[in-house]
Amino acid sequence: MAFDIDMIKGVYAKMQERVDTAREIVGKPLTLSEKILYNHLWEGNATTAYKRGKDYVDFAPDRIACQDATAQMALLQFMQAGKSKVAVPTTVHCDHLIQAKDGAAVDLKHANSVSSEVFNFLESVSNKYGIGFWKPGAGIIHQVVLENYAFPGGMMIGTDSHTVNAGGLGMVAIGVGGADAVDVMAGMAWELKFPKLIGVKLTGKLSGWTAPKDVILKVAEILTVKGGTGAIVEYFGPGATAMSCTGKGTICNMGAEIGATTSTFGYDESMERYLRSTDRADVADAANKVKDYLTADAEVYANPEQYFDQVIEINLSELGPLLNGPFTPDLSTTVGKDMKEKATANDWPIAVEWGLIGSCTNSSYEDLSRASSIAQQALDKGVKMKAELGINPGSEQVRYTAERDGILQVFEKLDAKIFTNACGPCIGQWARYSDPKNAPKNSIVHSFNRNFAKRADGNPNTHAFVASPEITAAIAIAGRLDFNPMTDKLINENGVEVMFDEPTGWELPPKGFAVQDNGYLAPEADGSHVQVKVSPTSERLQLLEPFEPIGNIINGAKLLIKAFGKCTTDHISMAGPWLRFRGHLDNISNNCLIGAVNSFNQKTNFVKNQLTGAYGGVPDVQREYKKAGIKTIVVGDHNYGEGSSREHAAMEPRFLGVAAVIVKSFARIHETNLKKQGMLGLTFANEADYDLIQEDDTFNFLDLNAFAPDKQLTLEIVHADGTKNLIKLNHTYNQAQIDWYNAGSALNLIKRQNAS
Ligand code: SF4
Repeated sequence: MAFDIDMIKGVYAKMQERVDTAREIVGKPLTLSEKILYNHLWEGNATTAYKRGKDYVDFAPDRIACQDATAQMALLQFMQAGKSKVAVPTTVHCDHLIQAKDGAAVDLKHANSVSSEVFNFLESVSNKYGIGFWKPGAGIIHQVVLENYAFPGGMMIGTDSHTVNAGGLGMVAIGVGGADAVDVMAGMAWELKFPKLIGVKLTGKLSGWTAPKDVILKVAEILTVKGGTGAIVEYFGPGATAMSCTGKGTICNMGAEIGATTSTFGYDESMERYLRSTDRADVADAANKVKDYLTADAEVYANPEQYFDQVIEINLSELGPLLNGPFTPDLSTTVGKDMKEKATANDWPIAVEWGLIGSCTNSSYEDLSRASSIAQQALDKGVKMKAELGINPGSEQVRYTAERDGILQVFEKLDAKIFTNACGPCIGQWARYSDPKNAPKNSIVHSFNRNFAKRADGNPNTHAFVASPEITAAIAIAGRLDFNPMTDKLINENGVEVMFDEPTGWELPPKGFAVQDNGYLAPEADGSHVQVKVSPTSERLQLLEPFEPIGNIINGAKLLIKAFGKCTTDHISMAGPWLRFRGHLDNISNNCLIGAVNSFNQKTNFVKNQLTGAYGGVPDVQREYKKAGIKTIVVGDHNYGEGSSREHAAMEPRFLGVAAVIVKSFARIHETNLKKQGMLGLTFANEADYDLIQEDDTFNFLDLNAFAPDKQLTLEIVHADGTKNLIKLNHTYNQAQIDWYNAGSALNLIKRQNAS
């Protein structure tokens, strides 16, 4: 059995006392989100009422899930922690590294050949450290988690932004960077700013062509791509309970597209049905015993304005199908006439070339069955498919069951391609063009979540629109972006006008789910003998060496780069083609800061090497300093390191020998990542001191030997002409973080503590 019922019962056993205590301390009825958060405090019972959007709080998540792209560096780091097993149940899912091209059988074989070393590494490291491993082809991480691990009232983190999908089964599930996941795997607390709360009341009922996808497309229109930032979105009301569990998953999934920390729904009968149908009757039984604790207190939903920071109401009976896009998921258009007008005005191609159904957002049995009901009508009514159609089932269990029930065959009769149970086109793993950069302008419609330029096929001219699976199927068949299946007729092969009836489908398979090999490999009970497979000549994987402590004497340090303006984690560690090297710190370090603008010449990747006077690329110059045993510093502007929690942005400069990053201000997660890697992340006490830094400067830290919480550090800047400035630097290190610095990294310290 993949899931851990004892762990779940343990979460429920402490729930009553912890939630009741929290309610007393907060002094008012609690939302579901608060109940889950307060039940997962690292400290145990609450002792204070946390301020939403302000207080940083330590939590103890129940589970961790990692996908194959992000798991590589996370697990390489975990190997440094000196633990024999992960501290909380963890799974790894191989879904991102499989390209969609010819169809599942051929594509999976190809992926297993080109990425075998990555898959073998992930399998062996999972086996060694007690991590559940889902093979390539087993399914998309979030669909597999929903089917196997998510449970009402639980808290999980995952190294993927759509971890939030598990909110469909009543979890607080949050996407994090690898460094956060490693902390929790190693038995440490996980810190999060106590979120704000947005309540979404769903009244009425979905019907006809309208699907759960349209709810989140509407919410995205209302809140925009930033509107959920720092908040949990909690859905409630009769429209919520009337919806399937996987439909709730779709809504929570795309909460990532409005920037929400996560989204969730209270436990209800749809969740119970889903748990029972996915072979988890014992979880449903356990949840039923504490169901009052798995939803908000009644008073909250009766008067939501008093308990949420923001409340939105949507009447599902009045909601129609939407198409969101192109290039952003919050640009909403009603299907049909509105789209015709907008597309004409904006010169969006009306002809649709592809329809794609799948991704973690919409690849459930219900999604496939409703879309196939439209495909079946096309067959029955003699309508020829105008666009091409591709399907990525969410999991092997969904695929096997859909095949058994004849659903996939309906698509195949329309010449659709059934791709691997994996991300595929959703993450650009789609061999659509040989030269995507120069590919023609076109429109596609898909049931995925993200539609930024180049996301699906690398073609900047592809206009991608997001819709429900049933609308995607209808538009692909019609081949027109402005097609309205509720009003428009199509001409069939006999020249006769026909119309689609409303889609139909099954929330759950009438004959139950089935699967022969779900692709899961359980780890050995004692993995101590397991050899982790990493070839020393690999380009993509490299075992990590512990970082040496930087020490409390830094004299004669040189300036590597003074970054001008915005410097995000993408500027520090670019994505794109570099993703291939995510598991190889030395190789990926060749992208270190290559996107940062040098304030002295306004160029990227062009900095002065003070040893030679010549200019070169940032990583090359830094490697020269490292070879000469000279420490360096990086200087930056405001909000340095914003963007993502990507730990590579801290690990690369650390690996290459940068000792300190000194900026006007940090994005907090990046600042913490620098601390975890045993570096100095400091801020100018006087912001104007940024202007003092010159290209040829040398730096001496005068009092680093007295590094202590709440105590400024003093930096001597020696200019090329011999003049000097003394400046003060602030920091936010507490004693534990100073211990990380002294040990060389947080992981070094954990390892030392384990050994003692
Ligand atoms: Fe991410 Fe798309 Fe894969 Fe979902 S299907 S995990 S959104 S790449």
